[in-house]
Amino acid sequence: MDAKDADPADEWPLPPVWMWECRDCVVLYKAMKRAPEIVDAARRELGPGVDCDPMDSILSTQIRLAEHIAARHPDDVPAVDEACATCVSDVGDARLPASLVLRHRARHLFVPPSIVGSW
Ligand SMILES: [Zn+2]
Ligand SMILES: [Zn+2]
Repeated sequence: MDAKDADPADEWPLPPVWMWECRDCVVLYKAMKRAPEIVDAARRELGPGVDCDPMDSILSTQIRLAEHIAARHPDDVPAVDEACATCVSDVGDARLPASLVLRHRARHLFVPPSIVGSW
């Protein structure tokens, strides 16, 4: 193993098969995966110091996909991940709306473990 090897915690998981069977999931997933590429391309072109993602497209595309899964595929949202601090604290917080809890757990399906706990 050398230092260039990707950290598995940074790897994007392969989405489950049922997501590919839902047209909305596919569209939202592709938009989410494209957003960083578009921002990267803009950054290469414009250089540092310019806000290349003024619409927060990277985050907002993730939120849209998570919200769609929470709303349309609640039965397919993964169970609480005991290793995830956000999952565990969500469960302990009865004031949180169920939709927000589901939205976070839906993220486990499609974002790398290293950022899944960020919201
Ligand atoms: Zn869907
Ligand atoms: Zn979690």
